[in-house]
Amino acid sequence: MAQLILQAGKEKSLLRFHPWLFAGSVDELEGRARPGDTVDVATASGKVLARAAWSPSSQIRARVWSFDPDESIDHAFFKRRVAAAVARRASLPALREQQGVRLIHAESDGLPGVIADRYGDTVVIQLTSAGADKWRGAIVDSLHRVTGCARIYERSDSEVRGLEGLEPTSGWLLGDAPANEITIDENGVRMAVDVVSGHKTGFYLDQRDNRRLLGELARDKRVLNCFCYTAGFSLQALAGGATEVVSVDSSGPALVTAQRNLALNPQLAAERAIWHEADVFTDLRERRKAGEQFDIVVLDPPKFAPSAHHAERASRAYKDINLNGFRLLAPGGLLMTYSCSGGIGLELFQKIVAGAARDTGRTARIVQRLQGCADHPIDLAFPEGEYLKGLLVQVD
Ligand code: SAH
Repeated sequence: MAQLILQAGKEKSLLRFHPWLFAGSVDELEGRARPGDTVDVATASGKVLARAAWSPSSQIRARVWSFDPDESIDHAFFKRRVAAAVARRASLPALREQQGVRLIHAESDGLPGVIADRYGDTVVIQLTSAGADKWRGAIVDSLHRVTGCARIYERSDSEVRGLEGLEPTSGWLLGDAPANEITIDENGVRMAVDVVSGHKTGFYLDQRDNRRLLGELARDKRVLNCFCYTAGFSLQALAGGATEVVSVDSSGPALVTAQRNLALNPQLAAERAIWHEADVFTDLRERRKAGEQFDIVVLDPPKFAPSAHHAERASRAYKDINLNGFRLLAPGGLLMTYSCSGGIGLELFQKIVAGAARDTGRTARIVQRLQGCADHPIDLAFPEGEYLKGLLVQVD
């Protein structure tokens, strides 16, 4: 096996069980390895600390599979890791019954570059690193055996694959497309999941708990749901008894699915739902000019800052929507605001929201901090896993 030799003193993060080895900490590769091959990781003095997947074209030169230098990285290894990840979900009552659940959350489940989401009896995987790509067969077989699911679809079309020198690839790896559309029950609401052309693996599972929270807050409230996608938040608000839910998204196809989702739920008061295809930045301004008011405004935008590099521009975008969101709130109203940008930490996000509140001249208080749910755990050794942060803020 080839050996990746670290520069002197560059083993500190490894000793803290952080799984990434950046190009700047690598001295050399001794021996030969192709992208995705397993290599031993050794300190400058020759002590082997871990086994990792080699990825020569990425700034993250290697991702650790195991911090036990004697552990074989083979089919059985993936079976163990997949089984452990699935067992962790099964151990949590709130997740056990979910039809839509993230089974593997990449680095945070000890499987860098591997995402697996289960929708009923279909599993959708996304492989984003050279190592994960290499072990596709073992990962798929393990998921099949551990979950019993007979249908596995690959959605490896994320842009980050390019950084690892990988081409996009999608398709059924096990079984065929189901005869009927895939749907899941989420907090009592039926939602369609388009695994082939929806966002990510078809659905934003990470917001499940936050959508339920909105439902709990929405009784007799007028709600504005910005960046609604397929109406996850909107339908929970309707289920919770909102008097009106206005949903805005710039994607026509997302709004078509949103309305189909509403139709899948005849128990909901469809006449209370209003759909608007528009750019949220513009739409919020127009609503302000028109003097509109809402009791709750939800802001769940796409990733404005994929990395810290984009933080400044992204900050301006977050500030803009939060500022206008605050301005639309009725007295005592709630802003439910999120950032899923890895490049914007919680502290910075809170600063941006505080700045937005200040600029409106309104007093506002955080009544709850929000995050992704338990099937998107954050390994304490891997803070990068904490991408989704949110605040529930009440204005005077
Ligand atoms: N809240 C959703 C997920 C939002 S994903 C849920 O719970 O499922 C982000 C959404 O923002 C996408 O649907 C995308 O189409 C939309 N979007 C991106 N930029 C936008 C813009 N400038 N204006 C309006 N919608 C936008």
